[in-house]
Amino acid sequence: MSDCIFCKIVDGSIPSTKIYEDENVYAFMDVAPLTKGHTLLVPKQHVKDLFEMPEDVARNLYAAAPKIANAIRSAFNPQGMNTVNNNGSFAGQTVFHYHLHFIPRYDETDGLKIKWDTKQSEFTNDVLQTVAEQIRANLN
Ligand code: 5GP
Ligand code: ZN
Repeated sequence: MSDCIFCKIVDGSIPSTKIYEDENVYAFMDVAPLTKGHTLLVPKQHVKDLFEMPEDVARNLYAAAPKIANAIRSAFNPQGMNTVNNNGSFAGQTVFHYHLHFIPRYDETDGLKIKWDTKQSEFTNDVLQTVAEQIRANLN
């Protein structure tokens, strides 16, 4: 896609700090890292987000994910790692070419704050059954 910044990174027309590439995927350093080693993995094919991702693109992308995660872990020995993918502006997506973030986690002061406010009390078993049925009805 001609006006997509990550397509331009993949085709080399704008520079990036490459970590890895194969026939299907490209991994590079995030230009504004949250922590040391913050890496992005993208499909070479332009895909806007997870909703639009063909199965073969997903298969090839995730096939490369452990290699990237293990390389970051071997390099920096973090205590953990978050892999994050934002889909849609409301979810924080700012670049509309699918990308998976690898964010190594070092300690409580590493700058990444993820807070889960669960609503478990609202979602009783009956409610969960209804929600699950609504999702199942939309699988295709
Ligand atoms: P999103 O908010 O869409 O999940 O993440 C987009 C990520 O892309 C951000 O973390 C941002 O720092 C990174 N990013 C945006 N533009 C560029 C760029 O030109 N080069 C690189 N390497 N990363 C970029
Ligand atoms: Zn693109």
